[in-house]
Amino acid sequence: MSNDSQPWYAEGLQFSCTRCGNCCGGAPGYCWVSEDEIVALAQRLGMSVEAFRTRYTRHIKGRGISLQEKRNYDCVFFERGRGCSVYEDRPRQCRTWPFWQPNLASREDWQEASAGCPGMDQGERHDVGTIIAIASDDGLPR
Ligand code: SF4
Ligand code: SF4
Repeated sequence: MSNDSQPWYAEGLQFSCTRCGNCCGGAPGYCWVSEDEIVALAQRLGMSVEAFRTRYTRHIKGRGISLQEKRNYDCVFFERGRGCSVYEDRPRQCRTWPFWQPNLASREDWQEASAGCPGMDQGERHDVGTIIAIASDDGLPR
């Protein structure tokens, strides 16, 4: 927070996804899923919740449940050239990027995150109230 108690992004932040796919693969990471999201994804794929858990998720000790990655570190649901194969039911953290609390902690954190996301700092400007609302439920484990 700055001295006047406004967050550093009081003027809002720009973001428009270019659909480059960087955030869905290419490097090790986590895509956190809640219980409700697991149920929705299992239903979408016509699987039982337990079968979905076994095939598509991994338990990260002390943190939560993440989707699996392919051998090349792409998200298990990312299809190169097509994008997310479960887009309408993608987890919350995929919907709230880049307005995640860790990215908003400081201007430096935001800039660091933007190095891998060409959609940040360009395109649509999001106002501070919208950003705070999104970040308050960003889908990351706490
Ligand atoms: S890295 Fe950024 S611009 Fe690229 S697909 Fe992800 S959110 Fe969109
Ligand atoms: S669920 Fe979809 S949007 Fe989320 S990381 Fe995987 S491919 Fe990307």
